[in-house]
Parts: sequence; C-alpha cells; structure tokens
Amino acid sequence: MQCPFCMEQIIDGAQVCRFCGRDQPAVTEEKRGRSRRRRWTFILIFAVLLAVVIFIFLADQGQQHIAMCESAATMARGFTVDQCMKLIHDSGFDVAKVAIFGPQN
Ligand SMILES: [Zn+2]
Repeated sequence: MQCPFCMEQIIDGAQVCRFCGRDQPAVTEEKRGRSRRRRWTFILIFAVLLAVVIFIFLADQGQQHIAMCESAATMARGFTVDQCMKLIHDSGFDVAKVAIFGPQN
C-alpha cells in the first residue's frame, strides 16, 4: 500500500510508515470496516435469495397439493378438494399418507 503522507510504498497493514514515521491506523481500520460491511451485504443477499427459493418451492408444493387433491376428488366421489387440502394440512403435509388414506375418508 501507499503511505498517504509521503506517498512511498510500504507493507500492507503497516501501522507506521518506515519512510516518514507517521501512524497509519486509520487506513487499516477503514479497510477492515469496509470488508465487514461487504460480508454483511453478502449474508443479506444470500438470505434474501434463500427466502425467495423457499417461497417458490413452497408455492410449487402448494400447486402440486391442489393438483393432487383435484385428481383425488375426481377419483373418489364426495371427497372434495377442500377436504383433501385440510387432510394434507392436518397430516403435517405428509402427502404420501394422504395419497393412501385420503380418498377412503
Ligand atoms: Zn510515509
């Protein structure tokens, strides 16, 4: 890095310039703060992306449940889509269990 006072090249992270002898703590502190802020920005972006992926996944699952319930309702008379969706919800979204026991209820 470059000493901001005498413009000589000094070792990265040096606290004192070996040419002019002046302290350099402000530069390293600022750099450390900037990288910490950048790390938090990455974490924030990652969290938002993860939330979006989970939301899309759950929305897609919901669509699959509705599609499954519509076919189950048409296969078993008197078994409505609403009943099927309630059953899926009550079973803790255990679709396999609903697929086996659903139409008989
Ligand atoms: Zn210097």
